[in-house]
Amino acid sequence: MTPTVTATHTVQFKPRRDERAKAGHPWVFAGEILAKPGDEAKGAIVTVLDALGKFLGQGYCNPQSNILVRILSRVKGEVIDREWWKSRLAEAIALRAAYPVNSDAYRLVNAEADGVPALVVDRYGDYLSIQVLSLGIEVRLEEITELLVELVQPKGIFERSDVPVRRLEGLEPRTRVLWGEAPPTDLVISEGPYRLKIDLEHGQKTGFFLDQRPNRLQVGQLSAGKRVLNCFCYSGGFTMAAAVGGASEVVSVDISEEAIELGRANAELNGVADRCEWVVANAFDYLRELEKAKEQFDVVILDPPAFTKTKESIPGAVRGYKEINLRGIRLLKPGGLLVSSSCSHHIMATHFQEIIQSAAIDSGRRLRSLEMRGAGMDHPTLPAAPETQYLKCFYGTVH
Ligand code: SAH
Repeated sequence: MTPTVTATHTVQFKPRRDERAKAGHPWVFAGEILAKPGDEAKGAIVTVLDALGKFLGQGYCNPQSNILVRILSRVKGEVIDREWWKSRLAEAIALRAAYPVNSDAYRLVNAEADGVPALVVDRYGDYLSIQVLSLGIEVRLEEITELLVELVQPKGIFERSDVPVRRLEGLEPRTRVLWGEAPPTDLVISEGPYRLKIDLEHGQKTGFFLDQRPNRLQVGQLSAGKRVLNCFCYSGGFTMAAAVGGASEVVSVDISEEAIELGRANAELNGVADRCEWVVANAFDYLRELEKAKEQFDVVILDPPAFTKTKESIPGAVRGYKEINLRGIRLLKPGGLLVSSSCSHHIMATHFQEIIQSAAIDSGRRLRSLEMRGAGMDHPTLPAAPETQYLKCFYGTVH
């Protein structure tokens, strides 16, 4: 399929259904449109009209998806050709150069927020990890790959499109070497003062949780001499930050054996293995055990996976967040630091703080909020699309 560069079809919003898109959100849902184009519009550029029939934007279309159009441009007549994609990618890359992060691993292209909907590109040293989340990107992947090679000159590009959301676009999950060399199995990146082994092919997400970098670095600054508990530790990113930052001891727990294995390797790599304890367990159970054993910590880090991906499962997720925060708070020494994250985009920052506050009430402790942070500047978000601000990291202290 040759992707179109100018609009082939026109879709128009139903009355009063165009407000979100007019305010800047890039998605047009199938149910908001008067007449849906047929399969011939698969992957094509279409013109989007507001409810009054005025030009609103143009974007790529997938008649099979609930997200019918992802808006690419709000300029009438703009040609979405190779040069257009090149300038969008170059703009994303220039942003990271203008506001550099303290690491050689960072998000280079953050999908909708960088004006390139459904395309995620992460940089791990000389290698790129890419995620293709829509048909509109899928049909342009060859062109996008060529442009990334031209702009970044990586040694290799690995595709990590192994995510179930692709099915909503009629695409199968997939992983493969997309271009160049396969990433080495001993790939190491640096983040501030510590180094981390990255498994690009099999690791979680695109290989690592790049979004938590600023929080790991901050925890590193606050850990000297502290006894730290790191729950849902994955490969021990927060553990390395704390241990290299001078923590007296870091206890790290994750349910995945492979994650803990990587964590141990990272501790060796950074010369802090003697101050790290690793536990393969369900964090819910392990927190209960620590409480029973009357263990106490100066810093408790909670960074669970998204407990909810749908609106329907929000109540269960709220119970999950409340339980781990309640147990985490009980394990803190007076004046200790709670570093508690949520990456569920259905739970907004204010709601998340309410959950932590209600856990503090149940624990009988007094909670003070110190700071609320998100991901780093390599993860820009769209104010018009609040769900792009999915990561919340709460810092609080209890007495
Ligand atoms: N803090 C990490 C990222 C954590 S991602 C970092 O900075 O890189 C969430 C982790 O929670 C994953 O590693 C996953 O294996 C783990 N996990 C999921 N459910 C769990 C459970 N019930 N108990 C413990 N770990 C769990």
